[in-house]
Amino acid sequence: MDFYLPTKLFSNIDSFSIALEKLGEKFLIITGKSSAHNGSLDELTKILNKYQKKYEIFNETIENPPKELLELILKRHGKDWDVIIGLGGGSPMDTAKAIAILCKNNISVEELYELEKYNTASKIVCIPTTAGTGSEVTQYSVLTINGIKKGFKHEKIFPTISLLEPKYSLTLPKDLTISTGLDALSHAVESALSLKSNNFSELFAFKAIEIIKDTLPKLINNLENYELRKRMLLASTYAGISISVTGTTIAHSLGYSLTTDKGIRHGLATAVFLPFEIENAKTKNAEKIVSILGNMLDFLKKLNVEITFSVSEQEINKWSEIVANSSHVKVTPGNYDLQKIKEAYHWLIDKSGIYGR
Ligand code: NAP
Ligand code: FE
Repeated sequence: MDFYLPTKLFSNIDSFSIALEKLGEKFLIITGKSSAHNGSLDELTKILNKYQKKYEIFNETIENPPKELLELILKRHGKDWDVIIGLGGGSPMDTAKAIAILCKNNISVEELYELEKYNTASKIVCIPTTAGTGSEVTQYSVLTINGIKKGFKHEKIFPTISLLEPKYSLTLPKDLTISTGLDALSHAVESALSLKSNNFSELFAFKAIEIIKDTLPKLINNLENYELRKRMLLASTYAGISISVTGTTIAHSLGYSLTTDKGIRHGLATAVFLPFEIENAKTKNAEKIVSILGNMLDFLKKLNVEITFSVSEQEINKWSEIVANSSHVKVTPGNYDLQKIKEAYHWLIDKSGIYGR
């Protein structure tokens, strides 16, 4: 299939609430702590109260949701939910998607990766407060299982409806604005480079790159600018639509271990590999990306991106094995074998200038 997006998108809260009301009677809200401070949780519970829906709130979602978090949620709130709402960044949205499957199927968290074992889910609603992961328009959920970050993909976890409200992201501090904005950029760039890209994904990916190139550098010096927040949210949703077609490519796979083992935020951990991926792709789309964005390394430096961690050769070997076995390798132009994957890590550490010791 070239293109499929079943999610209804709303930017008007009244239209969103009418759609929400029709989804069911029992709602489980999965969120973190920040939604209580940016107005989003209040607005959502007001709607649910108005329609006299039954709801419970789980507000202890942590970043890079691990298996144990999902088990805790099910233990505390049970499985009898018509609708699971993911409110926050990618972590609560991805957690909501996984919970929606677990509510309707008698399977373990590990079995979420065995796609033939299920084909039903509670309805999913996503409300992003970062810009972002694009999870509000994708059929992916990224979890951390036994220390390894891995996504699963299933048609049933496309959200039924999502609300795009930029004002919720006005409270994002500078470091999170940069890392989440770079996640969106990574999605767009990786999608454009993917061997699976097509006319539809490219339309959204290149538009997202254009918007982010222009908007993110302005936004980091003007964090409370609503218009800039709105453009970044739109761009991250566009980028999400592009990866719903193609998936992500090698930069995401390379970055996952930096997040799990070194605590570097997801968007930063992936974006630092983009210059290497673009340089090695040697395709028309790679040229087009450079023509829009200019030199990727310069763009990262303009945002003052620098990461620091210590690493052993043994760790690089372990990380490279994980990448070599990931699905991302096959869809990335540039023939990534184990040697080239190790080269990418060495490039980051020895040559990129992003890595500060
Ligand atoms: P996140 O992990 O959801 O949240 C990061 C931090 O941002 C948390 O401390 C959170 O606080 C805070 N935060 C969220 N919204 C805020 C706001 N409006 N104001 C202030 N603070 C706010 O971050 P994310 O980058 O959006 O998501 C990353 C996750 O998504 C990773 O697990 C990644 O692998 C995954 N991902 C998924 C997809 C997909 O297609 N499904 C794509 C890319 C990435 P609280 O926790 O206290 O609320
Ligand atoms: Fe991502």
